[in-house]
Amino acid sequence: MSLGRQFIKGTMSRLLPRDRFLLHGPTSTNGDATCVEIALTFDDGPHPEWTPVVLDALAKAGWKGTFFVIGERAAEHPELVKRIVEEGHAIGNHSYTHSEPSRTAARQFADETRRTSELIDRLTGTHSSLIRPPKGKLSLMKFVHLWQNEQSIVLWNVDPKDFAMTDDVSTDSWCDSYKPHQGDVILLHDRLPHAATIVQRLAQRHADHVKSVSVFDWLPSAISISPSSNGVSTEC
Ligand SMILES: [Zn+2]
Repeated sequence: MSLGRQFIKGTMSRLLPRDRFLLHGPTSTNGDATCVEIALTFDDGPHPEWTPVVLDALAKAGWKGTFFVIGERAAEHPELVKRIVEEGHAIGNHSYTHSEPSRTAARQFADETRRTSELIDRLTGTHSSLIRPPKGKLSLMKFVHLWQNEQSIVLWNVDPKDFAMTDDVSTDSWCDSYKPHQGDVILLHDRLPHAATIVQRLAQRHADHVKSVSVFDWLPSAISISPSSNGVSTEC
C-alpha cells in the first residue's frame, strides 16, 4: 500500500466510527490482558477445496473468522456460505465478480454489492452490512454509496501477502515474524492453500494467549441475527 493511501486510511480510521470504517479492532483488551484478540479475515472465496480446510483449521483452534465472499462464487457454492454462518463465523460482501476497481464505475459497483448482499441474505437468512471492496480500493462516489447504505467497510492492518507465498517455507517465515497485537485485522485469501496453513501455524504458536474473533464480535450491529445463532466466543 502506498504511503499516501496508508495516510488517508489511517486518518479515516481515526475520524470515522468503527462500525462504518474498520481498519483494526479495539486496541484495549476488554479487561483480559492475557488474551489478545485478532481477526483473521478471508477474501475471494468460497473455494470448494480450500474454504473447507480453512473452516476445519478454525474449528480445531476454536477460533472464528470473517469471510468476504465474491457473489458469483457464493452462488456456485451455497453450501459453503451456509457452513460459514452455521459454524459461527462472520460473512461479508466482496462484490459480485471482483471486477477491477479502476475499471468499475460506481453504478456497477453498487449493483454488484447489492446482488451479493441479496444472495447472502437469501442463503443464510441473516443480513450482514460488512463489506470489503476488491483490493480495498474505493472512489469517493463508491464510498458515499456505501455510507448512504449504512455499510460497514472493513479493511485490514496486517497483510501477510499470502497470494505471493509459494510453499510452507514462506508461510512459516511470516508466521515466525508475526507478533500479534490486540485488534489486528489480518488479510488472507481462502482461494489459496496458504490461508489454512497460516491458521494452523498461528494456532500452534499462540493458542495460549491469542484468539481470533469474528468481526461481528467487534461490530455486533453489523448483523441482524438472533443471539443464539451468533458466533460463540472461545477462551484463550
Ligand atoms: Zn479480493
